Amino acid sequence: MKILVVEDEPKTGDYLKQGLVEAGFVVDLAKDGVDGLHLGETGGYDLAILDVMLPGLDGWQVLAGLRRAGREMPVLFLTARDQVDDRVKGFELGADDYLVKPFAFAELLARVRSLLRRGSRKPEAEQMRVADLELDLLRRRATRGGRRIDLTAKEFALLELLLRHRGEVLPRSLIASQVWDMNFDSDTNVIEVAVRRLRAKIDDGFALKLIRTVRGMGYVLEEDPG
Ligand code: CA
Repeated sequence: MKILVVEDEPKTGDYLKQGLVEAGFVVDLAKDGVDGLHLGETGGYDLAILDVMLPGLDGWQVLAGLRRAGREMPVLFLTARDQVDDRVKGFELGADDYLVKPFAFAELLARVRSLLRRGSRKPEAEQMRVADLELDLLRRRATRGGRRIDLTAKEFALLELLLRHRGEVLPRSLIASQVWDMNFDSDTNVIEVAVRRLRAKIDDGFALKLIRTVRGMGYVLEEDPG
């Protein structure tokens, strides 16, 4: 899941970016409204977090520009306490939620996840499952055969991606861009290593293997590898 953060205050911006990356998201940070709007129009984001007071264009203008460009991702606004009255204006423009500064990161993360669930076109279950593997998207937990599996944020994001596309072979390039925000041109084996580690956690000790390598193509998660 890819998130755009537009925040001119460097400390807040870095803090947001780091926290969201640690939570498993791919994050781009823009430091003014012009860059923010440009990225938002072109970047394929699942959600945007916009500060209101920004150099260049303010948060409202960025939002209006995104909607004009047909970008319908959910938008969370960060407002100072004395701007709270502007809320009506924001909702009219199509903002989805507000957070008043200063806020706790846990609160932001909860709002982000709730907006992402709401924002997806298909109403989405809070749980996904394949065979006896279950992913609890709300609590960010995975279990197999009822037993909890400890996953890092990246492993969870990888497993979620595989599950969302169950039965489809996902090329490494797609996994790289969706989970690691990198181009696959780089000759790194980070994806192979991560998949191997994830597979060990998910499949070791189970007769039915769920994650499979399709040589020369990528990876697929499915119940019946036939
Ligand atoms: Ca600001």
